[in-house]
Amino acid sequence: MKIKSTEMVVSAVNKDQYPNEGLPEIALVGRSNVGKSSTINSLLNRKSFARVSQTPGKTRTINFYRINKEFYFVDLPGYGYAKVSKTEQAQWGKIMERYLKDRKELCNIFLLVDIRHEPTEQDKQMYEWIKYFGYECTVIATKSDKISKGNYQKHFSIIRKKLGLSDEKIIPISSLKKTGIEELWEEIIDIYTK
Ligand code: GDP
Repeated sequence: MKIKSTEMVVSAVNKDQYPNEGLPEIALVGRSNVGKSSTINSLLNRKSFARVSQTPGKTRTINFYRINKEFYFVDLPGYGYAKVSKTEQAQWGKIMERYLKDRKELCNIFLLVDIRHEPTEQDKQMYEWIKYFGYECTVIATKSDKISKGNYQKHFSIIRKKLGLSDEKIIPISSLKKTGIEELWEEIIDIYTK
């Protein structure tokens, strides 16, 4: 994929701040530290476009990145920080719900999980929430360099079982080794040009 332009358009809290040109959107979500920022940076071939390892407790925002003036990557706030107050959790929920409720531009949500571990309860809830709102979901298994290729299928079945997936594909990627990035781009192009 040839990246002609990447623009950080807005870091939004409220709905009226969201872009309104009607371009298709692909959102990315996952627990904190899963490798979401690194994935965005690898896709865009940039070192530090998306923030890597946000400080927990910082204001949660939804970041809209416009790519080639054709579509948006929507960087949703991570969940599962070890130390968050009830108030912060509630704030996260509100920000997410505001976006997920009735977002016509949203074509697909990438749910990022760590290839090594069984998804958490929160990952499962996130997956169910995505389905509840009626969006397509693509599961991305991050940090694939941490296990050998021969073990991918074993880990995929653990992920499938926990999330309750059937035969949907899971895309393994490594931002460290830059593997799976092209495959992910193919998926992205398929999604936003549909
Ligand atoms: P975020 O909180 O989900 O945005 O996660 P980050 O992108 O900040 O990554 C969290 C940590 O995981 C950082 O220390 C990254 O260097 C590391 N990380 C991210 N992607 C990979 C990967 O593909 N392989 C390995 N081994 N580490 C990764």
